[in-house]
Amino acid sequence: MEKVSEILTAVRREKRKHLLEPEAKTICQEYDIRVTRFRVAKTLEEAVKFSGEVGYPVVLKIVSPDIIHKSDIGGVMLNLETSLDVETAYRTILTNVKNHKPNAEVFGVLVQEMAPPSTEVIIGAIKDDQFGPSVMFGLGGIFVEVLKDVVFRIAPVARQEAEAMITEIKGYPVLNGYRNQPPLDTDAIADMIVNTSNLVTAHREIKELDLNPVMVYEKGAIAVDARVILE
Ligand code: ADP
Ligand code: MG
Repeated sequence: MEKVSEILTAVRREKRKHLLEPEAKTICQEYDIRVTRFRVAKTLEEAVKFSGEVGYPVVLKIVSPDIIHKSDIGGVMLNLETSLDVETAYRTILTNVKNHKPNAEVFGVLVQEMAPPSTEVIIGAIKDDQFGPSVMFGLGGIFVEVLKDVVFRIAPVARQEAEAMITEIKGYPVLNGYRNQPPLDTDAIADMIVNTSNLVTAHREIKELDLNPVMVYEKGAIAVDARVILE
């Protein structure tokens, strides 16, 4: 798709490998991967104005090519409910960046809708020298980091394969409803896996992609963070 190629070309021209979250999310949108509504603010005034447009509660995040793991340095502020919250969070984020990464180049502060907290899953893709792009799925948090409860498929991933990926993880009961929990929207997850597969299949210059996390609900799913690394 043209908009995707444009972004990837621009990133290359700037000699960057990592896309900024807004760039990664724009690419996702082109492939019908639902992401949190966002705008990039360059000033405190813009951050407040955009928060009103995006709709409270909002999340603020640092946008910097030098900061990959944003929350590690205090670059993510969640659940901001008023313009006063936004002003405080904006200043706090910039102070945190100054303290932890004084030389980081700051492009702005990302204002985005706060997705209601829910079960988190991860959809990813990595390119293997031999097999080309493959797509990964797993439950978020300790399920991925500690239990390594993830599945892979070589792309392109067909719809039925995506459905099989979801049921294959050990943590599947977490998605399928347990105790009094209602089942979550695994159709929406399967769609997102297929769309991610389509994206990395069409754009071979993508080396890694991470939707981490994706919030899953009884109805729908939404990526709240997106990372893309180029070859
Ligand atoms: P990092 O670069 O550290 O991975 P994230 O953007 O993933 O930063 O934010 C850290 C955590 O904050 C996420 O794992 C998620 O739990 C939460 N979070 C981030 N953005 C949102 C959002 N828009 N709505 C709700 N929760 C969010
Ligand atoms: Mg993340």
